[in-house]
Amino acid sequence: MTNVNKIIELIHNPSKDDVILITKAYKFAKKAHSGSKRFTGEPYFTHAFETAKNLTLWGVDSYSIAAGLLHDVLENENIKNEILEKEFGEEILFLVDGVTKLGTLKYRGVKRHVESLRKLFIATSHDVRVLIIKLADRLHNIKTLDGHPEKEKRERIALETLEIFVPLADRLGMGRLKQELEDYAFPYIYPQEYQTVCDFFQQKNIGLSQHIEQFHLALKNKITDSGIKEVKTSYRVKGKYSLYNKLLRYKMDIDKIYDIIAFRVIVSTIEDCYRILGIIHSEWKPLPGRIKDYIAIPKPNGYQSIHSTVFTGSGEIVEIQIRTQQMHKEAEYGIASHLSYKEKYLKHSKTQPIIIKKQLGWIQELLRWQKEVSESGIFLKDLKMDFFKFRVFVFTPKGDVIDLPLDSTPIDFAYTIHSDIGNHIAGAKINRKMVSLKTTLKSGDIVEIITKKTARPTIKWLKYTNSNLARRHINLYLQRQSE
Ligand code: MN
Repeated sequence: MTNVNKIIELIHNPSKDDVILITKAYKFAKKAHSGSKRFTGEPYFTHAFETAKNLTLWGVDSYSIAAGLLHDVLENENIKNEILEKEFGEEILFLVDGVTKLGTLKYRGVKRHVESLRKLFIATSHDVRVLIIKLADRLHNIKTLDGHPEKEKRERIALETLEIFVPLADRLGMGRLKQELEDYAFPYIYPQEYQTVCDFFQQKNIGLSQHIEQFHLALKNKITDSGIKEVKTSYRVKGKYSLYNKLLRYKMDIDKIYDIIAFRVIVSTIEDCYRILGIIHSEWKPLPGRIKDYIAIPKPNGYQSIHSTVFTGSGEIVEIQIRTQQMHKEAEYGIASHLSYKEKYLKHSKTQPIIIKKQLGWIQELLRWQKEVSESGIFLKDLKMDFFKFRVFVFTPKGDVIDLPLDSTPIDFAYTIHSDIGNHIAGAKINRKMVSLKTTLKSGDIVEIITKKTARPTIKWLKYTNSNLARRHINLYLQRQSE
């Protein structure tokens, strides 16, 4: 049932304005789509509704939820931009229009792949919410893909999902969404391989074994005994596509994969994470060399947890993941968990980009610096400054996306790639043309650094940098020289 209350009741403590906005968007979209049908035969509005519901579950702001309801009215129902703006204002129009524009990007093989990604990221750099709405739209489309009558189209949509949307979800740290998109797309692209994995699940009785429940109980008891407060335990079954990729790496030997079932222990503080690890290891022997501390050293997408693999004592080996509630929220919902509807957004205007949109990259940057901050405390001020600065997205010649603070130069870019590249910059090209190192980078630029062994940082470079990272490396180098 597409009842607006089904959305509103999912919001934690909605304000009066939230309810008014969402209800208005709901009514508008329902009316606009009335009479239109999806390829599945159901009313088109169901799609808009489910898209908005996905967004609500991720905990984003009410503007994004309203835009989710409205996301197809411009393209599918020929509603004019002016009308949408008059009814809902500039910000909602901006979001809906952004999603509509992304909709015209189609995956057509490797060559277009990088180009599409590039456009996506440029669109995103204005407001990351556009991309998040697009992901919610895609999730519903791929979930209902088997209702699509054309085989070719089904395959195209599934491939596009795996090649473009999954990497984006990953980069945004949205772990749960990544797995859902992968597992829905998997059977369309690799039907045989999908079957193989399903067979493995059946043979191994994965997720149904009694031992698993028994171990879960033992784990819970052990933790209760420890007296640590506010602990939640659960377990999850690995996604099929992710398992398939791991099987490929392990020559299809399923007995070498220990995280098909992973237990999760979620606590309040980082200290508790390490205490839990100690408690677990004192009861169950860990597999040597399998303890991974992603709290001290997060994964590149910002993921944090402690992983350990232990012998359960009943002949099984399981993985245990320990993390704080905050880390858990971030691992599941990533950037979306920072776009809470509670936050007050500054209105979007043409001259000033939207502030506070927690841009891509800040989580990574934050995590990268977290260690330094906790060790010295001196970068805290810098951190706060960059935190709210706008970002610019540029590309390596191979198409990798690098995000930098606004007004960055090729010097900032070089140091972001690697300090060795930074320390040996001889020149730079933007979009294949030689430029001076002072040049300000714009979103979408393809940046290439020319290095020379003999090239060295100079004090002048400090004037041309805008990232703390680059400044720190240059200062470090100059200091060493003077010593
Ligand atoms: Mn749609």
